Amino acid sequence: MREILHIQGGQCGNQIGAKFWEVICDEHGIDGTGRYAGDSDLQLERINVYYNEASGGRFVPRAGLMSQRLDLGSAVPRGVRSVPNISSLQMSNFACVLSLSFVNNSLALFASFTGFQVCHSLGGGTGSGMGTLLISKIREEYPDRMMLTFSVFPSPKVSDTVVEPYNATLSVHQLVENADECMVLDNEALYDICFRTLKLATPSFGDLNHLISATMSGVTCCLRFPGQLNSDLRKLAVNLIPFPRLHFFMVGFAPLTSRGSQMYRALTVPELTQQMWDAKNMMCAADPRHGRYLTASACFRGKMSTKEVDEQMLNVQNKNSSYFVEWIPNNVKSSVCDMPPRGLKMAGTFVGNSTSIQEMFRRVSEQFTAMFRRKAFLHWYTGEGMDEMEFTEAESNMNDLVAEYQQYQDATAEEEYDEEEEEERDA
Ligand code: GDP
Repeated sequence: MREILHIQGGQCGNQIGAKFWEVICDEHGIDGTGRYAGDSDLQLERINVYYNEASGGRFVPRAGLMSQRLDLGSAVPRGVRSVPNISSLQMSNFACVLSLSFVNNSLALFASFTGFQVCHSLGGGTGSGMGTLLISKIREEYPDRMMLTFSVFPSPKVSDTVVEPYNATLSVHQLVENADECMVLDNEALYDICFRTLKLATPSFGDLNHLISATMSGVTCCLRFPGQLNSDLRKLAVNLIPFPRLHFFMVGFAPLTSRGSQMYRALTVPELTQQMWDAKNMMCAADPRHGRYLTASACFRGKMSTKEVDEQMLNVQNKNSSYFVEWIPNNVKSSVCDMPPRGLKMAGTFVGNSTSIQEMFRRVSEQFTAMFRRKAFLHWYTGEGMDEMEFTEAESNMNDLVAEYQQYQDATAEEEYDEEEEEERDA
């Protein structure tokens, strides 16, 4: 019932998608040949969410790969590579139809599924352009299914291409309209975590992707293992999205570790909770204390007391009540999943719908506008057949989004009430 079709596109998308599959194959006990070699029934209970069962009891990731280049190489997921009939797509930017037919064929295999997840970067060409084009085609074809994206936002700290704010803004325009839920993975924040918290002098994409894969594993934990809270894409959306356009989430992970390093000491539930909510642990360069939470959800992993988790979470909310909108009661949910991620006794993933995320959109928007005001680099796009109008529309859609976040940040419960009263008086 809850099957998800995974699609990864472009260099970044293929890179992080590969890491994702590596991590979840490991968590579910699926070895390099697609065979189950695990040690807990929990690993198999919901295996069909991300895997198809092939002949001989092998489990095949339900995944599609989009790439412009032929050198997918190590970016092909371990579990996928070992399977001969891998659905790998090689295509040009205009061959979206091809990938859509791949989607149709894949879905013909099973009757009911909740939706899609797409991994891509927004700063490049393939994952950004092709990725969002495919997302819009899927939306047309499957309007009643959910679309979750793991979208990597560009930062000048890790990239040397000046036009990335253009690509990102054009893609955000599409994601606002055609995606249901977007997990924001902001290279700016990922770089800062590596540099400041993990003390890596020159963070590489590998280091950034280590954080991303831990987060992706944490975010999908509720979908992959048995449990009540946010157990499918739709429930996740219902809990987190009070207004349809505001579906961009800040994600946090605790404890943060660098690649190859080990935690020597297990954290306690209070420490874990404190870190999960900490601005420094957010994978998005925006400070939650500059805005308010519309909703939030936390998934704890490992053996721990549910009671203690509930207490700690309530504690955070009580101490910081001004950072939560008071007009959505009980807007924070938490759950505990028995299976910790590899190498840790306990971990936690945080997903928040915070109005402060506008800071990140503002950053991209300022970079966009600085160039667009002078129409710099525009000929590269118009030369490919794009219209300047598309830029203007994308720019204003993102500015609207920022304004909407601000509007709900400022809204209070009394305000609405006053207006109603006034209307009544006027009538
Ligand atoms: P595409 O292949 O045309 O989709 O282009 P890329 O995926 O290379 O997009 C470029 C953007 O993605 C830039 O903002 C890069 O900083 C970022 N990027 C590329 N590879 C990675 C990666 O492996 N990890 C992360 N976090 N970002 C990446």
